[in-house]
Amino acid sequence: MDGMLEIRSIYMDHAATTPVRAEVVEAMLPYLKGEYGNPSSLHGAGRRARDAVERAREKVAASIGAAPQEIVFTSGGTESDNLGVIGAMQAMEKKGRNHLITSAIEHHAVSHSASLLRQRGFDVTIVKVGEGGQIDPRRVEESLRSETGVVSVMMANNETGTIQPIAQVAKFLEGRETLFHTDAVQAVGKVPVDVSALGVDMLSISSHKLHGPKGVGALYMKKGSLLAPLLVGGPHEFGRRAGTENVPGIVGFALALDLATRELDTMSRKVAGLRDRLQERISERIEGVALTGDPEERLPSILNIRFRGVPAEALVVRLDEEGVAISSGSACTAETLEPSPILLALGLDRQEAGTAVRFSVGRDNTEAEVDRVTDLLVHIVSELRSARSARS
Ligand SMILES: *Cc1c(COP(=O)(O)O)cnc(C)c1O
Repeated sequence: MDGMLEIRSIYMDHAATTPVRAEVVEAMLPYLKGEYGNPSSLHGAGRRARDAVERAREKVAASIGAAPQEIVFTSGGTESDNLGVIGAMQAMEKKGRNHLITSAIEHHAVSHSASLLRQRGFDVTIVKVGEGGQIDPRRVEESLRSETGVVSVMMANNETGTIQPIAQVAKFLEGRETLFHTDAVQAVGKVPVDVSALGVDMLSISSHKLHGPKGVGALYMKKGSLLAPLLVGGPHEFGRRAGTENVPGIVGFALALDLATRELDTMSRKVAGLRDRLQERISERIEGVALTGDPEERLPSILNIRFRGVPAEALVVRLDEEGVAISSGSACTAETLEPSPILLALGLDRQEAGTAVRFSVGRDNTEAEVDRVTDLLVHIVSELRSARSARS
């Protein structure tokens, strides 16, 4: 704005979404311009589009240790989760398996899928988590029944970054027909993800959480796993997801994932360094701070922290005024301002949950930005605390 000091904005909300990388935009452009063929067409334009989709499928598969035929392209993490929970349960029901097990800290894309199934008469068990937000794999084992069709436990939580013991849950499912789904939307591109090492049958990925375009993602489905499609129509995606493929989106997604996988070690180290610096500076300079989630088993990128007596929304709004983008624990339900069910599941009371804010660092953040955010926090937290004590 005229006459105002230009404030460079600082984006620390990468768990909500990420900027699309320049190389990714470049790679997508031809498929938005000249190469508009339908991959199902027999002519040259169609064949070129088909080639692009299949090359993308190979890249996505290779990055998680899967085979290309095991990758189903979807419209994103939400659809992949719906397919992995609802689609798979509907198929398993035909085999007499109408019981779903999931955890108390799932993303809405999974937890609302579970509620929908419950409304439709399925049995649902929700496994509780400990204080750090981790499930105990034995709780899953105890909940298993002969009619359990699907177990869905997320790999890393979007609010706290807590990583779940997926491979240990898989051990308990070995030799059973029960399908194991994991929402790996936050994990992919930040920690190593290999479907055979994890022992999962289904795994959800979303492109826009890893510097790809929005509206595209994938569900890994182990060969032979049952699935009832949610979108019906043409024979696309091996009959598992009808609809003309989002060619530019798929091309961009595959490149973003490929790059993220190649750069994983360097980037996670850089991002963890920034996150740890932020956490240390905050703890050194501000009193009454508590970490939310497991301090060890967490993504390199997420810092969920509570400033005692400081309402999360007020802090998010004040930081936004200073050009800094972060999230509060109720980001997904901002309209209702209800505390996040995930935070309540960790055993926080409503008051505490209402103070949780999430910083999610990304590849383009810098130490200078971390330091600027810390300086701002020192002022804003004290300002909000004194406003509060003045009122009471
Ligand atoms: C963002 C997110 C989703 C939803 O993915 P979309 O591509 O936005 O639909 C699902 N699960 C987790 C853990 C997420 O963070």
